[in-house]
Amino acid sequence: MELLRTHDTCLNCDKKLAGRRDKKFCDAQCKAEYHNKNKSFGELYISSSQSITRHNRRILKTLCPEGKATVRKEVLDNMGYDYRYFSGLYKTSANLYYLAYDYAFAPIFERGVEKALIVQRQDYMDRLTLEIWKGKRS
Ligand SMILES: [Zn+2]
Repeated sequence: MELLRTHDTCLNCDKKLAGRRDKKFCDAQCKAEYHNKNKSFGELYISSSQSITRHNRRILKTLCPEGKATVRKEVLDNMGYDYRYFSGLYKTSANLYYLAYDYAFAPIFERGVEKALIVQRQDYMDRLTLEIWKGKRS
């Protein structure tokens, strides 16, 4: 019985493969190209998400010069805050804080207005254990 190929075509250039059935690339050059391309896509995404998180941090830092501040959500929106990116989470009984490195904000609702409670990161925030699987079992 002929064993099935793991790949019919080169992962890099899509040319049909011949020879050893576990081959994935035509040659060493295709292999290297493929890995370089993949690495750079990954690295590209890492640096773009880092720069967005940095931008978020700059916004929080600007709005929070004294360690703690409350601003309307629109202020963050207008400065281009991207809520999809953050560097960590911190949870208290009342709020969930989204970190942007050494700053964090929690979305709050105060007297009918959406606001952000901004704080500077504290060391105790790193000691928190987030029970993110809690409640998934039942
Ligand atoms: Zn190839």
